[in-house]
Amino acid sequence: ATPTAIMVGTGQGARAGILVRNAEALERAQKIGVLALDKTGTLTCGQPQVTDVVPMACKREEALRLAAALEHQSEHPLARAVVAAHGDGELPPVTDFRALAGHGVSGEVDSRVLRLGSPAWFGLDDDAAIAELQSAGKTVVVLAEMNGETPASVLALIAIADALRPTSRQAVAQLRAQGIRVVMLTGDNVATAAAIAAQAGIDEFRAGILPGDKAAAINALKSADALVAMVGDGVNDAPALAAADVSFAIGAGSDTAIEAADLTLIRNDLRGVADAIALSRATLGKIR
Ligand code: ADP
Ligand code: MG
Repeated sequence: ATPTAIMVGTGQGARAGILVRNAEALERAQKIGVLALDKTGTLTCGQPQVTDVVPMACKREEALRLAAALEHQSEHPLARAVVAAHGDGELPPVTDFRALAGHGVSGEVDSRVLRLGSPAWFGLDDDAAIAELQSAGKTVVVLAEMNGETPASVLALIAIADALRPTSRQAVAQLRAQGIRVVMLTGDNVATAAAIAAQAGIDEFRAGILPGDKAAAINALKSADALVAMVGDGVNDAPALAAADVSFAIGAGSDTAIEAADLTLIRNDLRGVADAIALSRATLGKIR
C-alpha cells in the first residue's frame, strides 16, 4: 500500500479502537487466514474468582489460608483469585517459595512442604471430581502436601472461574464470517479449554501448552497460503506474539504483551480484530 493508504488505515484504526504500532502489520491483516487466541485474559476477562473450595484432608479455612500463603508471592491471575478468596486474615510465613511456570507454586508452611497447581502436575488428570468442575469451564488447582515428588496428601481442590468477555462470542462469529480459522491456545487443561471454547463458539483449540511452547504452536499453524495472527494479553504471550505474522495485544494486558504486539485493542474487545481485518481489506487492499 502507499504511505497515504497506510495513514488512512492508521487513522481509521484509531477510530475503531485499534492502536497501530506497526502500519505494515495493518496492511498484512487482509491476508490473515488463521487467528490464534489466548484464553485467559484474552477471550476471558482475566479476573478469575474462586467459585468452589473442596476440602479433602483439611478444613476449608485452613485450605484457603495455606493456598493464599503460597500464592501471596505469585503474580499469576489465579494467585490473585486465591488471595482475594482468603480475605484479609493474617497469612503464615512461607519459606523456600518457588513458582514453576505453567504448573504452579510450592513452598514450606509450618514445616509442611506444599504445592498448589494444575492437576496434571500431580498426575491427577483423570480425577472425576476435578473433571466435573472443569467441564463447567472452571480451572481447578490442587493443594497437596508433598513427600518428595509425590503428593502425600491432597488437602483440597480449589475451582476458579473466569467469565468470557461479553463480546468474545460475537467477535468469533464475525471472524468466522470473514473466512478466518479461529484457534484457541491455552496452558489450561483440555476439559476447561473445551468448555470455554464451546462458550465462545470456537471448535478448534490447543490445551496444556506450556508458556515456552506458545511460539512453537504459532509456527505450527503457519502455511504457505495464509498469514497467522495471534491475540494475547500476558507476559507469557510475548514470544507467540513475536512469532505471529500479525499480532494483537489486549489493551488491559501486560506492558510486555503490548510492546510485543503490532496492534493493540484499546477497548479490550476482540471484535476489534475483525474490524482491523475489514479495514485492511477495504482501505489497504484496493490501493496496491
Ligand atoms: P494460561 O495459559 O491459562 O494463562 P498458565 O500457562 O499460566 O495458563 O498456567 C497453566 C496452569 O498451571 C494453570 O491453569 C494452573 O493450573 C497452573 N498454574 C500456573 N501458575 C499457577 C499458580 N500461581 N497457582 C496455581 N496454579 C498455577
Ligand atoms: Mg492470557
